[in-house]
Amino acid sequence: METDPGMKLQEARLCLDCEELHTQEQCPVCASEAFSFLTRWIPSNEVTRDLAAAERRRADRLILREALASR
Ligand SMILES: [Zn+2]
Repeated sequence: METDPGMKLQEARLCLDCEELHTQEQCPVCASEAFSFLTRWIPSNEVTRDLAAAERRRADRLILREALASR
């Protein structure tokens, strides 16, 4: 997995087509404009009081980890 040295979590995007991590308007690998911000799965400084939301994010992180591991 390649990441830019200066990539910030708040700016990191996951390409929905090839799962590349990038910070651009479109994927540098496959040129897809379909992406999702990583903070959707990994809140950086969020205090979570909503346990249901926390559970959902944990499940989403597992899915993301599997997706990245299968590359
Ligand atoms: Zn891509």
